[in-house]
Amino acid sequence: LASRTFHEEGTVVRVGDLEIGGNAVHVMAGPCAVENREQLLSTARLVKEAGATMLRGGAFKPRTSPYSFHGLEEEGLKILAEAREATGLLVVTEVMDARTLPMVAEYADVLQIGARNMQNFFLLKEVAKVDKPVLLKRGPSATIEEWLMAAEYIMAGGNYNVILCERGIRSFDNFTRNTLDLTAVPAVKHLSHLPVIVDPSHAIGKWRFVPAMARAAIAAGADGLLVEVHPNPAEALCDGPQSLTPENFSAMMDDLRQIAAVM
Ligand code: PEP
Ligand code: MN
Repeated sequence: LASRTFHEEGTVVRVGDLEIGGNAVHVMAGPCAVENREQLLSTARLVKEAGATMLRGGAFKPRTSPYSFHGLEEEGLKILAEAREATGLLVVTEVMDARTLPMVAEYADVLQIGARNMQNFFLLKEVAKVDKPVLLKRGPSATIEEWLMAAEYIMAGGNYNVILCERGIRSFDNFTRNTLDLTAVPAVKHLSHLPVIVDPSHAIGKWRFVPAMARAAIAAGADGLLVEVHPNPAEALCDGPQSLTPENFSAMMDDLRQIAAVM
């Protein structure tokens, strides 16, 4: 179902009145994690002003250490919904397990399946039953075929609204957090009709290099971007080193408009 041979034309995934995979590039931006009302609402206003069409922010965070901040859970989802009301930005947020899926689906416009859960087949089968688009991140060591098979699970279960997200794969270098596999963009667009977006933030892990990879992703044909923005990256509870300030985000958006139509 995910294959181009099944569906020759590119699929447009509708999120509210936005068209992901259409003519314009969509930028989804916001903090790694929802930390408090002030942080999220101010970030939402600033990324909207800079041209983002969707707001990202985790209320359930998959963290490497059990002692790290794991998110505000339902309180975070409520703050995301409030930011949507205030700005009109649609909300993409991660769902980590089937138990909390009904709650997340109540607040989210797009359900994000994180890289670590790409092959959580039970969760994939559960989101397949929900009438919300799914943003499926590529697993840190997943091949393109495995990634497309994960999309296949969601589609086989009845949900055809899948957006693929390349977020960097594990390689031998440790200067960058991951290795952004931009080759995946044209390759997946050849193999599949699904829209493909790129998350340069988690790929490279250092804010200074995010704009360059965002420009490269769009030049390579990505349908959108997922970018981390924090009002005060030094104080962020999660992923501060890769988060752009609102000022840097706005400058990046101006540069992107030179390359493609950015909504
Ligand atoms: C995220 O988007 O905050 C995230 C946890 O990303 P990934 O699943 O790609 O690591
Ligand atoms: Mn993050």
